[in-house]
Amino acid sequence: MNIALWLHRCGLSHPQMPAVAVGTRAVLTYGDLAERAARLAGALRTQLELQAGDRVAIVAKNTPAYVELLHGVWHAGCVAVPANAKLHGAELGYILEQSGARVCFASPGLDTDIAPHAPDTLAHLITIGSLAYEKLMTADAIDVVPRSGGDLAWLFYTSGTTGRPKGAMLTHRNLNWASHAYAAEVDPVSPGDAILHAAPMSHGSGLYIMPHVARLGVQVIPESGGFEPAEIIALFNAWPRISMFAAPTMIKRLLTQSADCNVENIRTLIWGGAPMYVEDALAALDRFGPRLAQIYGQGESPMTITTLSKQDIAVRDHPRWRARLGSAGKPYACVEVSVADRDDRPVAQGEPGEILVRGEVVMAGYWRNAEATAASLRSGWLHTGDIGLFDEEGYLHLKDRSKDLIISGGSNIYPREVEEVLLKHAGVREVSVIGRPDRDWGEIVVAYVVGDASPAELDALCLAHIARFKRPKDYVFVDALPKNNYGKILKTELRERDAARRR
Ligand code: AMP
Repeated sequence: MNIALWLHRCGLSHPQMPAVAVGTRAVLTYGDLAERAARLAGALRTQLELQAGDRVAIVAKNTPAYVELLHGVWHAGCVAVPANAKLHGAELGYILEQSGARVCFASPGLDTDIAPHAPDTLAHLITIGSLAYEKLMTADAIDVVPRSGGDLAWLFYTSGTTGRPKGAMLTHRNLNWASHAYAAEVDPVSPGDAILHAAPMSHGSGLYIMPHVARLGVQVIPESGGFEPAEIIALFNAWPRISMFAAPTMIKRLLTQSADCNVENIRTLIWGGAPMYVEDALAALDRFGPRLAQIYGQGESPMTITTLSKQDIAVRDHPRWRARLGSAGKPYACVEVSVADRDDRPVAQGEPGEILVRGEVVMAGYWRNAEATAASLRSGWLHTGDIGLFDEEGYLHLKDRSKDLIISGGSNIYPREVEEVLLKHAGVREVSVIGRPDRDWGEIVVAYVVGDASPAELDALCLAHIARFKRPKDYVFVDALPKNNYGKILKTELRERDAARRR
């Protein structure tokens, strides 16, 4: 089925319910939103002459228009291509070209960045909120174009921590299952519940739109269009029953806010997208109470590989509580998760290996990239590139991306384990551990540290908590770590910088 049907039905049944808000102000009801999506779909098919399956790019900061654009595109039977608004014009040009998008909707300002890089295949570049944009909303509405579960809905461009971004092909079935899995296992949604979009809607946060539309929730967009900690706390205070997806760095920044926060209003704070160190999870639990949940997913299996539930995070008196807190939880009911060796054979429980995923949420492949698809989906499993292990209770512990693993003197060292220890030092704000090529050891462990601490103090911490051979042989103190536009630390770039420093 076409997931645009969810909005269509809500528009019929509850036209007066608020659907989208900016800050504390509702700006669209379900009736208005459904009508705009249906008219936009009409315009896409008749005025812009798109066919079912054509790609429509969205390059926008978080904005109410995101919700109507996604639904209008799906309503028309087309495929949405949300792109990260923070990318350079040339990078956006690449995504437009690779996806073969015929139409691109862009926020004011981003349209001019894109224009010089627009490929020939792009027939229309339309500025969101312009007269031309609003005119599309006056076209005749059309019926929702029928789609089957296997039809494409969203080309989800990877954040590209290495190389060029690839478009994970997400189908209507994928998004349908991901939305149901979320509502069943992470955060049940009731009518009127709010979802705060502080993370990019082109990426992680965008996936939370659908389960909230299906259940008559309210999409709340911050006035600032992004993540301003003080504003987020104010919105927590303003909206009863509010949830938010946040990268661990965002949760950490919220913890530094001293403003009063009515935590009773918070339904669920979901973290994911990168490791949350146990010390930070504990601090968040102290501040926000039993309202935290974790998801582990990737664009190729959106939101949905494993989840650590609110209950698991909250039960401090459980003997395995702390061990579970350091995990990414258990597989969702709708997926199979395997930890395998290089030949895709499952390894023994407790042994690390690559995390493989199979199920209804796994992407159909990479758009126009048969080679990467074959490599990623070989033997019927999605190869995540993440290393992890199952503990005796069936909780998955993530180690690192396979390419970040350090092999020193023949021993495997997982950077995250060392990072967890270094972060125990009160003066360490951020840390990233990498391997540096070494003639004697193969690689040696090197820690890049942001903060105030001495190598001797950090050494002492390591000696107290982990095996000697895992201790960094060099500490490099820096002002900041290289990160991509989604705030993920770029270890590949850090390794390159490390090599350059030593030349
Ligand atoms: P992306 O496709 O950009 O969302 O990135 C997905 C990657 O982020 C995964 O393959 C993991 O390496 C990492 N990731 C996602 N969720 C978590 C999590 N809960 N804990 C640690 N790493 C995560």
